[in-house]
Amino acid sequence: MKLSFELSKKGRKAYSLPPLDVPLTEELPKEYLRKSLPRLPELSEPDVIRHFTNLSGLNYHIERGMYPLGSCTMKYNPKINEEFVRLSGLANLHPLQPEETVQGALTILYELQNYLAEISGMDEVSLQPVAGAHSELASLLIVRKYFDKKGENRTKILVPDSSHGTNPASSVLAGFKPVEVKSDARGLIELKALSELMDKEVACVMLTVPNTLGLFEQQIEEIARIVHQSGGILYLDGANLNAFLGIVKSRDLGFDMIHFNLHKTFGTPHGAGGPGGGGIGIVQELSPFLPVPRIVKTPTTDNRQPITDSYELSYDFPDSIGRVHGFYGNFGVCVKAYAYIRMLGAQGMREVSENAILNANYLMSELKKYYELPYKGPCMHEFVLSGDRQAKLGVKTLDIAKRLLDYGFHPPTIYFPLIVHEALMIEPTETESIETLNEFRDAMIKIDEEARTNPEIVKSAPHNTPVRRLDEARAAKELDVNFYK
Ligand SMILES: *Cc1c(COP(=O)(O)O)cnc(C)c1O
Repeated sequence: MKLSFELSKKGRKAYSLPPLDVPLTEELPKEYLRKSLPRLPELSEPDVIRHFTNLSGLNYHIERGMYPLGSCTMKYNPKINEEFVRLSGLANLHPLQPEETVQGALTILYELQNYLAEISGMDEVSLQPVAGAHSELASLLIVRKYFDKKGENRTKILVPDSSHGTNPASSVLAGFKPVEVKSDARGLIELKALSELMDKEVACVMLTVPNTLGLFEQQIEEIARIVHQSGGILYLDGANLNAFLGIVKSRDLGFDMIHFNLHKTFGTPHGAGGPGGGGIGIVQELSPFLPVPRIVKTPTTDNRQPITDSYELSYDFPDSIGRVHGFYGNFGVCVKAYAYIRMLGAQGMREVSENAILNANYLMSELKKYYELPYKGPCMHEFVLSGDRQAKLGVKTLDIAKRLLDYGFHPPTIYFPLIVHEALMIEPTETESIETLNEFRDAMIKIDEEARTNPEIVKSAPHNTPVRRLDEARAAKELDVNFYK
């Protein structure tokens, strides 16, 4: 496809403006004036529309097909969320407006915090962090302040070997030393390994439940007991919350903190579809340290209708870790998550997870005849296959992923978690129909067959995408975003 600059024809325009009817002035100081005109493509309106419509079709997105990218929960995001966030009373707010003029917006944030507290069983929620990783950092800063305040010098964070890379990275950013905990043969935390590592220097243990293998930690209560016995904090990386919404509360499992990924679990777009949304939930004991401002509700003192509770942003929390983001986080994302939760309701939340689990188990049982399944299920909302069998034929997991593009699917997450050889991490999500799951299954089976009968076609894939196989290392190292200079 050509760049808009290559389509440009001198003098062609997509606008028509009336002639200037005010005198031209040159009051701006000379040094601020352009020396030459900006180099912009000159195109007609249809040229522009066609260019961008065609461009959008080059990208793979959830509106185009299934996106089984494990760990990322690429569900279909209902368009009604977008309708809500575009309401002028929300979209046209200014973040510096006086609080009494944004009571509706504060109500939405306050209620969303309550819903997330209800879902997780936690006492308090902050919506200020804007991603999972950002929430991890905010949470670990809270952990640090909590132990500083108690006069305890705890320097280590324990993270399982199956954890997402953000867990050790956030630990380092918050000033801790991450220490790895080994998984056992079942892919779960080894209690003995955990007990041996647990000492008075461990501030926090970060667990992902279900873990990145899609398995639920079966001894979670025992893990919580071990962590709490030596005074540590148990943190839930809640990126996989899509597996147990409305089924179990993380607080009841023994967790003290959780982070939410609004863009994974609560129907807000991600992956170039818009900014992310995070959020943290914590138990009372940690609440003095939450980021400020916090939304404080003053209930109405009269019982006239309509109810006139008032909300304000309070900075009056002297032990707070302070701000972690400008204003109140990503407000628009919060509105979409609020709409999503309100639309589905409590029963709907539970059905999200039940269907996500059902879809994953269906695909897993269909595919395990063709691909190795190193950690046996049943799985939760995702599962991890190994491409080892195909690799022995010279077809690597990367090749399988590229070949899936030819069959019209976004590939699963590959080579993660690190503890699985040639990993293919598949998360179908609840929004895919049985027909789509079957189409994906058939493509995977076909690729397995090709690995045996025609490996070259897989190894040289993709064949029918806008670009062929890229040199990803070089693309990252020699980023050329200035291609039209
Ligand atoms: C996605 C993910 C994260 C990080 O969340 P972001 O919103 O991408 O920063 C952390 N842990 C796990 C298990 C994840 O899947």
